[in-house]
Amino acid sequence: MAGKVWFIGAGPGDPDLITVKGRKLLEQAGAILYAGSLVDQAATMYAPEGCVIRDSKDMTLEEMVAWVIDQASRNAIVVRLQTGDPGLYGALIEMTRPLTAAGIEWAVVPGVSSAMASMAAAGESLTLPEVTQTVILTRTAGRTPMPEGEDLVSLARHHCTLCIYLSITLLHEVQAALREAGWREDAPILVVQKASWPGLEKIVRGTLADIKRKCQDEKIGSQAMIVASPTLGSADWESLVRSKLYDPTFTHRFRKASEDNGND
Ligand code: SAH
Repeated sequence: MAGKVWFIGAGPGDPDLITVKGRKLLEQAGAILYAGSLVDQAATMYAPEGCVIRDSKDMTLEEMVAWVIDQASRNAIVVRLQTGDPGLYGALIEMTRPLTAAGIEWAVVPGVSSAMASMAAAGESLTLPEVTQTVILTRTAGRTPMPEGEDLVSLARHHCTLCIYLSITLLHEVQAALREAGWREDAPILVVQKASWPGLEKIVRGTLADIKRKCQDEKIGSQAMIVASPTLGSADWESLVRSKLYDPTFTHRFRKASEDNGND
C-alpha cells in the first residue's frame, strides 16, 4: 500500500483548536507521529482504536523519516502532528524532501500558530489601523543562526508587531535589541506561556523595562511567546482610529457607504 503522509498543524495546545480537516484526518489515521508533549492530547483524543501513536521527541530526523515511510507502506493515512502551524519552525521541508524522493505523496494541513493564540488569549489585536498594519514572526538566534538582515534590531526598527518565538530564555537579548532599535522603556510587552492550554495558560503584561523581572516572578522559562507591539493595551485607549472596513462612510464590495468618501 502506498499511503499518504499528512503534516497537520495541531494548533497551540487546546485540542479544540485543531482544524476540522486535521481532526477528520486524525480520526482516520493508521499511524501518528507527534511532536512532543504539546500535541499528545490531540493525538490520543482523536486517534481511532488500533492507531499506532509515537512521540518523536527522542528521534532524529532520519529516524522520523524512516518511521513515516515504513508506516506509509502499511497505512493509507499517516499523520505527522506538529504544534501550531507545521510551516513555522517545524522542520517541514527537511521531512518532505525525503518523502518526495521515496515517491510518497504528502500534503500539509495548516494550524493555528501560537502567535495568534497568544494574542487571542490576551484579547489583543495583531494589527490596528494607523498604528501598525504589519506583523513579523521571528525568533532570536539560538543554535540556528539568523540569516543576514534578519537580526532583531533591524526587524524591530519597523516598530510593527513582533511575535518572537523560541526566545523566552533569551529575553534579555530581546530587550537589548528593542532598546537598540529605539523602543521606549515603557513600550508594552506581552508574554504568554502555554497559550490556549486549558488551566495552564499564563499571561504576563509588562514593559520593555520590567518584562524580564515579571517573567522571572511567574517562573516562565519555556513554551512562551513574546509579543512586542504598538497595538498592545489598545482595548483601554481613550481614542482609536476607526477600522475602515466597518466605517459607515467606507464603501467596499459587500456594503455601500452611506456617504461615499472615495475609498475603494
Ligand atoms: N509551529 C509552532 C512553533 C514551534 S516553535 C507554531 O506555529 O506555533 C516552538 C515555539 O513556539 C516555542 O518556543 C514558543 O515560543 C512557541 N509556542 C508554541 N506553543 C505555544 C503556546 N501554546 N503558547 C505560547 N507559545 C507557544
